[in-house]
Amino acid sequence: MSADARLGERLAGLEREGLARTRRTLAGPQGATVVVDGAALANFSSNDYLGLANDARLREAAHRAIDAMGVGAGASPLVSGHTRLHDEAEQRFAAFCAMPRALLFGSGYAANLGILAALGDANAEIFSDELNHACLIDGARLSRAKVTRYPHADTHALSAALAASGATTRIVATDAVFSMDGDIAPVPEILALCERHDAWLVLDDAHGMGVLGARGHGTLEHFAVESRRVVYMATLGKALGGYGAFVAAPEQAIEWILQRARTYIFSTALPPMMAAVAMRALELIDEDGARVAALRERIAQFRAGCARAGVPVSASRTAIHPILLGDAVRAVAASRALAARGFWVPAIRPPSVPDGTSRLRVSLCATHTAQQVDELVRALADCVPG
Ligand SMILES: *Cc1c(COP(=O)(O)O)cnc(C)c1O
Repeated sequence: MSADARLGERLAGLEREGLARTRRTLAGPQGATVVVDGAALANFSSNDYLGLANDARLREAAHRAIDAMGVGAGASPLVSGHTRLHDEAEQRFAAFCAMPRALLFGSGYAANLGILAALGDANAEIFSDELNHACLIDGARLSRAKVTRYPHADTHALSAALAASGATTRIVATDAVFSMDGDIAPVPEILALCERHDAWLVLDDAHGMGVLGARGHGTLEHFAVESRRVVYMATLGKALGGYGAFVAAPEQAIEWILQRARTYIFSTALPPMMAAVAMRALELIDEDGARVAALRERIAQFRAGCARAGVPVSASRTAIHPILLGDAVRAVAASRALAARGFWVPAIRPPSVPDGTSRLRVSLCATHTAQQVDELVRALADCVPG
């Protein structure tokens, strides 16, 4: 069989197992309602948790930055791509999450690859939650460190693994909010273990930034923790509505990452407009606390509605709410039935989740109306097989 025919075989296999993915094309901007194939769908599939992706104030910030700075950075940050907008954004991020220094990356994926491969080496051991996001897993692999996976959120297992480690450098890596389950990592307990065992804590707050904490400043604010061991990563592409990512950490750790992270060094700097958009998003979170509050209201409403309607939703208190169905084919069928009723709720399947844990994943946004959430609960009660 030729190489091409083999690929065809494998693609057919994905189709048979309900694992083939397709893209749906949006006719307009991201939002609480989107138009797909000529039909308007209530959109419960995006990470635009604060509804900022198409916010007029962020669009204006982008326009202004384009007029002042052009559209492309033109070079890696260490050559000539680092502009005053990048510089200012880094300072604002550091202040926003109460960390000494921050560094902008092209994306969250690139940031996690860069951080773990820069901090880790062949003499390091990386302790990784078994449900971590793909980019933490890939970063750990890339580092050449020994990788020890611990059972999800199991601090006893993590403690034992750290105690048994003879590595020179120890790094614990975890999602702060798990992207497929919506649960929050036990950060204070993990941090205490990192203190005891002289380990870095690489914390991926892609889904906590803008969502958790009294002011929406993220998981560190939620737990009121502060530590010189935390290397904190948050994306700009989720609640902050734009694109890119930043890493915040103590001065020296950031300097090392700047010197050694290959995804920072060998990649074009973020377009300066994205730095401007991100700064404006931080301002909006602080000026307009009603956004974060509205998201919290929708979350509470959804949970209460599901409890009343008997929809078997998890105990998540974040914007992400999985409904476990097990089989990929069942999850796809439920997602299709919801789409037919006007709701976009994605079916999440392997390899995004472990085999046998396919699910619907509802993502709530501040811009959903109370009516949209009520109607979704009713549709879920009808479409989710009991
Ligand atoms: C989305 C996501 C990333 C990647 O961030 P991008 O900026 O989209 O590349 C990293 N970690 C987690 C947990 C994510 O959900």
